[in-house]
Amino acid sequence: MNENIVKRNELLAKTVIKGLESRNMTGYYAATKEEALKKALELIPKGSSVSMGGAMSVHEIGLSDALKTEEYNFIDRDAYEDKRAAMLAAYDADFFLSSCNALTSDGILVNIDGNANRVSAIAQGPKKVLFVVSLNKVCPDLDSAMKRARNVAAPVNVQRFGLKTPCASTGTCMDCKSPDTICCQFLITRFSRHKDRIHVILVGEDLGF
Ligand code: SF4
Repeated sequence: MNENIVKRNELLAKTVIKGLESRNMTGYYAATKEEALKKALELIPKGSSVSMGGAMSVHEIGLSDALKTEEYNFIDRDAYEDKRAAMLAAYDADFFLSSCNALTSDGILVNIDGNANRVSAIAQGPKKVLFVVSLNKVCPDLDSAMKRARNVAAPVNVQRFGLKTPCASTGTCMDCKSPDTICCQFLITRFSRHKDRIHVILVGEDLGF
């Protein structure tokens, strides 16, 4: 990677980490996917129960595969026939893994959800939440973070799931109320009441969308 981009990433990560700290959350910088995986495995003790929402970034650094071993209790919701039991197990986990749709340079996290399993677990339930977030999702302020979530992340997600929404054909948010909309719940995490609950690994390589 170009050394000027590397330098900019380090500086931006420092700014975001400072913002997260001011909000009772903890941030880390990993220049590469490999460093991000190493840091995540340092933070999750062996034997932990771990659940996750749909988080491409977590898959892309290899974390979900690394946790699907006998050393961890990985709660794989796809393996549950009873989806309600899977959801309740996820809420009771030691760790919930997630990415976010956007975050601000001063540390506010923005997430949009259709079923709300992800945003509800971020808000409360699992003992700790570990985010893996690429620096390409950092926006200057909350307004631009909301715009990114609705105009970049959401239209890509509807394509991923083959949903019938206006943004699936326009590529940008049309503020729909379609039955397939994934924009049912918006979670803005501006402060964590519980110190040491929310941890964010910022990654210098592009991940997710
Ligand atoms: S509100 Fe509708 S059109 Fe806008 S991003 Fe969400 S699903 Fe797409």
